[in-house]
Amino acid sequence: MPVCQRCQAQIPQDEARELRGQVLCEDCYMDALSPARTCDPWATYTASRLGSQELSPVQEKILAEIDRRGAATAEELMAAAGIDARELERQIAALRHMELVRAAPALGGGKVFRRFHDRPEAAA
Ligand SMILES: [Zn+2]
Repeated sequence: MPVCQRCQAQIPQDEARELRGQVLCEDCYMDALSPARTCDPWATYTASRLGSQELSPVQEKILAEIDRRGAATAEELMAAAGIDARELERQIAALRHMELVRAAPALGGGKVFRRFHDRPEAAA
């Protein structure tokens, strides 16, 4: 009687299956054919989320405006993204958390928003 090479169970001759050169019992054969059962879809999902920080369209507009200007005021970002001050605050908090944007003091007072890793012009 053949023996399953995975679970070592003895297999009745007519239930033996062969997969990639291995003799398997019916259960192990089905298992081997559906690898989706053993992989964790949630783990894959979170891993891919972290890998490519997905930005909302509004966040992309904010970043684009900052990139265009180097440093943008809240008013400029609100106008560019079409959002109000409250929403901007929310978006900036998210972007800061992703280390994409930070607030910096503006030359004439108030504050501007810059890219997180952008160094202020120290010599200027
Ligand atoms: Zn088996």
